[in-house]
Amino acid sequence: MSRYRGPSCKLCRRAREKLFLKGDRCQTAKCAIEKRNYPPGYRALKPKKISEYGKRLREKQKLRFYYGVTEKQMRIYFAKASKKKGITGHNLLSLFEQRLDNIVFRANMGKSRKDARQLVKHSHFLVNGKKADIPSMLIKKEDVISIKEKSITVFKDLFDILKDKPKSSWVVFNDSEKSITVDHGPTREEIDVPVDEQLIVEFYSK
Ligand code: SF4
Repeated sequence: MSRYRGPSCKLCRRAREKLFLKGDRCQTAKCAIEKRNYPPGYRALKPKKISEYGKRLREKQKLRFYYGVTEKQMRIYFAKASKKKGITGHNLLSLFEQRLDNIVFRANMGKSRKDARQLVKHSHFLVNGKKADIPSMLIKKEDVISIKEKSITVFKDLFDILKDKPKSSWVVFNDSEKSITVDHGPTREEIDVPVDEQLIVEFYSK
């Protein structure tokens, strides 16, 4: 199945909660969840009872929407997470957090992950001095993400805005070198994605 390319707000309405997929707009009254908190195509204002399977499916879908990945990619990430030492749910979230598009988003270079993904695909970044335009590329602690010299103008206004934005605790933006590095792998508390990863593990383990 290919990646979802429709309106982001529909995904929130389907999940019946804010997934914060559109940056600043999500904090305003224009947010679709504030106006129509029911699934698209329904007038179902009365919430239906959800089965145990439905709960697991919903959490899995939420995670998929957060990071903008396909079902096939989800299964690959889950297989990788299961093989790693430690708690599978946390391993799964850590893998998603290591994606290049997510690191760019965490460094406040894009308003949303979708935005960050586009910046990566437009080839504005280098990883360790080499071309990096694959959003799913996994970034390690020692890697350095830099902005291509000819792309600096694209981010010109952003650098001023960045100074006042809240900083991530584990992704560091180096202002003098205009580069991004990873300070440490994020703990569960540092991953502010409100999903119950245990339900996702249960979904794929059945
Ligand atoms: Fe979701 Fe943001 Fe759209 Fe609100 S504005 S429905 S939080 S994507």
